[in-house]
Amino acid sequence: MNLKELRNHLPSRVKVLAVSKGQDISSIRLLASSGQIDFGESRVQEALPKVDLLKDLIDIRWHFIGGLQANKVRQVVRTFDVIHSVDSLKLAKRISRIAGEECKKPIVMAQVKFRNDPNKGGFNSEDLLNSWNELIELPNIDLVGLMTIAPLSFDLTQRKLLFKECRLFADKLRLEDCSMGMSADWKEAVESGATWIRLGTSLFGSRL
Ligand SMILES: *Cc1c(COP(=O)(O)O)cnc(C)c1O
Repeated sequence: MNLKELRNHLPSRVKVLAVSKGQDISSIRLLASSGQIDFGESRVQEALPKVDLLKDLIDIRWHFIGGLQANKVRQVVRTFDVIHSVDSLKLAKRISRIAGEECKKPIVMAQVKFRNDPNKGGFNSEDLLNSWNELIELPNIDLVGLMTIAPLSFDLTQRKLLFKECRLFADKLRLEDCSMGMSADWKEAVESGATWIRLGTSLFGSRL
C-alpha cells in the first residue's frame, strides 16, 4: 500500500504508525525518506539495535506497542517516546517512577481489552475505571488515550463494534487518542474514530 495515497484518504485526525517489527533497516530508511515519522516496535530486544542503527534519523519517533516486562521498562523509557501498551496500574506506576529517574515523561496509552481474549494483555474496562484516579495522578507519564487489539477470531463487523466501544470509552474518560486498527482492520478502526492506526505488513510487506 502506498503511504502517500493512504494519507490522502485518511481524515486529518488519523496518524499512521508504521510497525517496523520484523522489517530490516533499509526498509525503515526508505519509509522514513518518504516522510514517515512514527515507527512502532513490539520487542525490546529487536528494537534497541535497530533504533541505534537509525539514530542519524533525528526526526523519527519510536513507539512501543508490545507486551512490556517490568525488567525492560528502563530501556523502553530511555528509547521510546510513546508507549501504547500500558496494560496494568502496576506497570503504569513503574513507568512513571523510572521515567522520573530518567528525566523523561513518555506519552502513554492504556491498553484495554473489551472482550475476554486470553491471547492479549490489557485492562478490562472495569479495572481501568477502578485504577483511574491513581492512574491520572501519576506524575511522569502523559496519558493521552486507549489502545486496543481486536481478537483474531473476530470478523470485520465485530471488530468495528469493538472499535466503537473503545472510542466511546475514550470519550467518556476525556482521552483524545484511540490506537486501534492494523493491516486487516484499519478501515473499520478509522470509521470508528481511531486517531492512530498501526500498520505493519500492509505498509512494508511481509515480516522476516
Ligand atoms: C504487529 C503489530 C501490528 C501490525 O500488524 P500488521 O498486521 O502487520 O499490520 C499492530 N499492532 C501491534 C500491537 C502489533 O504487535
